[in-house]
Amino acid sequence: MTPTTLDRGLALTVALRLDRSHEQCAAWIESADRVCGRDALRPWLCKRHETVAKRRLEKEVAQEKAQAEQARQRAEEQRPAREARLAQINARLDQIDPFRADGNADTAAMCAPLSQRLPSDTRIAELARLYRERDALMRTLRTH
Ligand SMILES: [Zn+2]
Repeated sequence: MTPTTLDRGLALTVALRLDRSHEQCAAWIESADRVCGRDALRPWLCKRHETVAKRRLEKEVAQEKAQAEQARQRAEEQRPAREARLAQINARLDQIDPFRADGNADTAAMCAPLSQRLPSDTRIAELARLYRERDALMRTLRTH
């Protein structure tokens, strides 16, 4: 029997290391301070430790699912605040970004020569910050 990734994953829930022959159970017995060593029914696991390993793996999977669900709920709770902040940023960008085609930027300023409508350093820094925050918000809103 050639060990699969699942065999390894399963065995590693009860074994500390898998560097021995997989013909023998590699489960670590804490109370006896040794490995099990019984004949393995599947790579590195005897019948008893296969049961233990499956139970642990199921528990891990269940915990991961619960954590993912919690994260999803948290993201859902934060969604309105994030969307509100995004609207705020877009409104501000419409005001201050002279290159925003779809914005309400001052048309007089748009018609001024480029040298005159170039934003100040402070304004450029604000634009950069707002665009960064906006992109981060949009990414977060998209993935949740
Ligand atoms: Zn065993």
